[in-house]
Amino acid sequence: MPELPEVETVKRTLNQLVKGKTIDRVSVHLARIIQRPDDIDQFAWMLAGHTIEGVERRGKFLRILLDGLVLVSHLRMEGRYGVYQSSDPVEKHTHVIFHFTDGTELRYKDVRQFGTMHLFQPGEEFQLPPLSKLGLEPLDSAFTLERFKETLKGKKTKIKAVLLNQAYIVGIGNIYVDESLFRAGIHPEQPADTLTDGQLKALHQAIVATLAESVEVGGSSIKSYVNGQGEMGMFQHQLKIYGRQNQPCVNCGTAVEKTVVGGRGTHFCPSCQTLKS
Ligand SMILES: [Zn+2]
Repeated sequence: MPELPEVETVKRTLNQLVKGKTIDRVSVHLARIIQRPDDIDQFAWMLAGHTIEGVERRGKFLRILLDGLVLVSHLRMEGRYGVYQSSDPVEKHTHVIFHFTDGTELRYKDVRQFGTMHLFQPGEEFQLPPLSKLGLEPLDSAFTLERFKETLKGKKTKIKAVLLNQAYIVGIGNIYVDESLFRAGIHPEQPADTLTDGQLKALHQAIVATLAESVEVGGSSIKSYVNGQGEMGMFQHQLKIYGRQNQPCVNCGTAVEKTVVGGRGTHFCPSCQTLKS
């Protein structure tokens, strides 16, 4: 599943590939991808003639900004965008095609078919689902230590579950929550309201640094994983704890343990991340 750094990289790549292009027409081959409006013909009709002015991100949602419209797109498990020539054969699992006036096409492929698109008037997208209930944006300058502390205040649930809740903080995701907690030396099952000031500061810094570094990796390796069509693949992350169960901890050599917290596979070092009562 793409996490926030991957979606950030998709955003940057789309800005390079489709900014300034004008939509001639739209074809939809799988109606369920289009969540708003209800009618796929209306979706296509509304977008025709509009120009893409840029692509932004809110959590793991892409906001494709057009003149007078905003398309909110979530890739979910397997969604991919790619830019093709209109003469290129259409591959399997291509569900939506934005045909541009210059003869190129932005194609949305999704093997699992879980991705969504919502079309809004500009500004309206923040008032309504799916963006209206999202929490703090961890890569935004508004994500200060103070805001972070306020968000965690009085929460008795396990810190990992709090960090995964999109209503509090958006888009950290399972992998980066484990990485951030390891970096801050905090046990994933530590109740959020028991964290000390020092731990809160370390965790805040760890979240920002972990995500920022991953975005940088994506940005610098862009050529190696964006193919000729501009289609994005997953890049290799520098993971210190996630997926390393039974391997020695990079800090202390203790075997990394795997457990389940909040229904998600969770990796931690029992020596570096002790549970405090
Ligand atoms: Zn360790």
